[in-house]
Amino acid sequence: MMCSQIDLTSNIGKKENKDYCNFCKDGGTLICCDHCPSSYHIKKCLKAYCKKFNLNYESPPEDNSDEEMDDAAWYCPKCKPKIDKLNKD
Ligand SMILES: [Zn+2]
Ligand SMILES: [Zn+2]
Repeated sequence: MMCSQIDLTSNIGKKENKDYCNFCKDGGTLICCDHCPSSYHIKKCLKAYCKKFNLNYESPPEDNSDEEMDDAAWYCPKCKPKIDKLNKD
């Protein structure tokens, strides 16, 4: 999910993601992990982060930005392998 526009009413009871990038520690339009509090710049940092920590990079759903993204879960490169494993078991 995207957190550039935070809807407070739908955010109740949900953990809060950081409002700065987990890679460059800067703010802006970030994509938030649905599993941990990490947030990342989609274009600027996600790929670089994966490269730095040798993680599997998967394109985030940036091309669908015109559509409602509220229901789409996104997991950061750290969490994605764990989620995939959970779904498999
Ligand atoms: Zn960043
Ligand atoms: Zn995560």
